[in-house]
Amino acid sequence: MPLRFFLCAWITWFGWCEISYGFDNSNWEEKKGNHFVVYAQDHSSFTDDVLREAEDVYQDIIRYFGSLPKDHFWSWENRCKIYIYPSQSEYVRLTKQPEWSSGFADVRKRTIVSFENAPDFLESVLPHEMAHLIFREFIASDNRQVPRWLDEGFAISQEKNIRVALDQTIQRAVQTNSALSFQDLTTMSSLHTRPTDQARLFYAQAQSITRFLLERRDPSYFINFCRLLRDGASLEEALRKSYRDFSSLRELEQEWKRHVSHL
Ligand SMILES: [Zn+2]
Repeated sequence: MPLRFFLCAWITWFGWCEISYGFDNSNWEEKKGNHFVVYAQDHSSFTDDVLREAEDVYQDIIRYFGSLPKDHFWSWENRCKIYIYPSQSEYVRLTKQPEWSSGFADVRKRTIVSFENAPDFLESVLPHEMAHLIFREFIASDNRQVPRWLDEGFAISQEKNIRVALDQTIQRAVQTNSALSFQDLTTMSSLHTRPTDQARLFYAQAQSITRFLLERRDPSYFINFCRLLRDGASLEEALRKSYRDFSSLRELEQEWKRHVSHL
């Protein structure tokens, strides 16, 4: 699993910190879509791809949150900004990101930042970070009822190219009885002090449970579940009132394990 997941862990947990972009507004040219403005110093086929892919992924994700409050729609002056630095070296120097980073998101500024031809950006980083932005805008980024696994799980579930590897990881964990207990999973917030294997398992399990919830019923169930969390319900209460077939986290855990064993 790529190291960038650990970057995401940092950005999302410390999302309120001021992130430096090193922007000098004079050199950025913009290209606008319906929901995005891509900024680059020289537009290229890569930035065209970024805009096209961003609009496609947006449509994919937004179907789960069709009833966003009106002032949260990503249109006109509320469009999401994507900055593409001309090179990796400038990106690293000016944003202070580590060399293995392909991009990151700033939730408060509705902004995604990357660089020309960044590896994995179109397939993984863009859908992942966009999912974080939309999920957090819908549910409020400082909402303590929302477990970290749901936020990460929703973001990772948008990265279709790593599903097979993640499913294998989680199948092995369930077979060998080494999956994280839901109790542990739900109380995990910072991964920095956890061993790498446990952090990897956290991400694999988070996406597996979230996809289980997303695919179990039509999207309205998931939206309702998130809406209840947003409005202050506890995790168990939101689960019970939305999916109805789980009366507790324990029941969800059992059903999910049964599902994974039959994959
Ligand atoms: Zn993430």
